[in-house]
Amino acid sequence: MPPLYPLTSKEPPVNDHHQPAFALTIDFDAEELWLAESDANAARPGVLSQATYGVQFGVPALLELTADMGIPTTFFICGRDALRHPEAVEAISASGSEIGHHGLTHRSPDTLSRDEEERELTEALSILRRFSDDVVGYRSPSWDFSPHTLDLLESHQFEYSSNLMSAVHPFRHDSHALNELPVHWLLDDAPHFWFDSTSWDKTIRSTSEVLNIWAEEAEAIWDLGGTVTLTIHPQIIGRPSRVRMLRQFLQLVNDRGVPTLTAREAAARTVNGAGK
Ligand SMILES: [Zn+2]
Repeated sequence: MPPLYPLTSKEPPVNDHHQPAFALTIDFDAEELWLAESDANAARPGVLSQATYGVQFGVPALLELTADMGIPTTFFICGRDALRHPEAVEAISASGSEIGHHGLTHRSPDTLSRDEEERELTEALSILRRFSDDVVGYRSPSWDFSPHTLDLLESHQFEYSSNLMSAVHPFRHDSHALNELPVHWLLDDAPHFWFDSTSWDKTIRSTSEVLNIWAEEAEAIWDLGGTVTLTIHPQIIGRPSRVRMLRQFLQLVNDRGVPTLTAREAAARTVNGAGK
């Protein structure tokens, strides 16, 4: 068998006192998402107009909705998207939202050399710190890791990662001084709503179907004392009908009475030891 990267992959034992929680995480993908797919997209205004929608309509709609409902948010932002859209990032920062790291470009770390990955990490950090003093969380573009990612996060004093699918409770990595806030495709808007215009193979789900999927999974995770980490994208969830659906889901969260936390706060509630 091929050797595997030695990552914490098994959920540690959970103590009985662990309490359910909810964290709303927003991956702010603007033009960098499409530029990472193909350089040719730089000359495709139609493709890039999806990014424009996310910045102009999606972000303000999400800030208004979450403020109205009293739900804290964490925005993971690409460094170059922040450079292109400083007003949007200023508005996010002014709202009191946490700002986390989402790469410099939207290239996955597993496509980069170690040096390239570190350069992306540090360059984006210096950009994002213009908007927030506390950039301590990392979500990679596409949730993919390289074998160097955790080493680099630790050496640059990150507190937590939110990328792995190995658990339903936040945990402390065995191998690194980092907390992990687990995620899953099921609790992400993209797999349900993303339309693949190159193949037309992918069907767009109705909002009622996705609301039902999220609600069922959230209730089941909370019954285990786990943390629901919802991952959404302004250009996807920001469509008018989906903003209405998100309001319904957040109402369910509020009605359930679970603590609503930033990703940093949620990640620190590990089941296996103190966070930073
Ligand atoms: Zn992204």
